[in-house]
Amino acid sequence: MMGVAVYLATAKSSEWSRRWGWLFLIVLFSAFADIDFFPALFGRLGLANALHRGITHTVLFAVGATALYLILAGAVRRKFMWKPALILLVAYLIHLVFDIFAEDGKAPYGIAPLYPFNNTYLYGPWLIFPKIHKATWTEVFSFNNVRVALFEIVVFGILIAMVAGLRLFIDRRQRHHA
Ligand SMILES: [Zn+2]
Repeated sequence: MMGVAVYLATAKSSEWSRRWGWLFLIVLFSAFADIDFFPALFGRLGLANALHRGITHTVLFAVGATALYLILAGAVRRKFMWKPALILLVAYLIHLVFDIFAEDGKAPYGIAPLYPFNNTYLYGPWLIFPKIHKATWTEVFSFNNVRVALFEIVVFGILIAMVAGLRLFIDRRQRHHA
């Protein structure tokens, strides 16, 4: 959902309905870190939290993913795509920042974004996003999770609406001055 907000901010409002590739890339970058949760969920359920927030939740991994994008996009477009790369990097890093403020059910709490250079875990001091319970499949669809999901939809819904409104406002002003 964070990705949608970044998309609306970085694509011209007149192009919102068309730039699906760009939307896909941003959502991919802003959600990719949590890919470490899926294999565990489909494998041994108890491991879901153990593997969550590992190597993909580091700045090094974010930079690596961005570098990969630069190489691939550069090869396809024959251009140094530093601007979109920068946006994708920011989208990735926002995920890490949000996870610092998200409730974590198990030690080590939070994330260690500077691993392997520095093993300090960052967590809190306030937790904005309550925990999603996912130790078992029944828990995945429990009432608690529905409530948490609703809360996140409302928070991000407001954020997305604000970003969209701001972008519309800026685009309209630019059209007036053009
Ligand atoms: Zn995460």
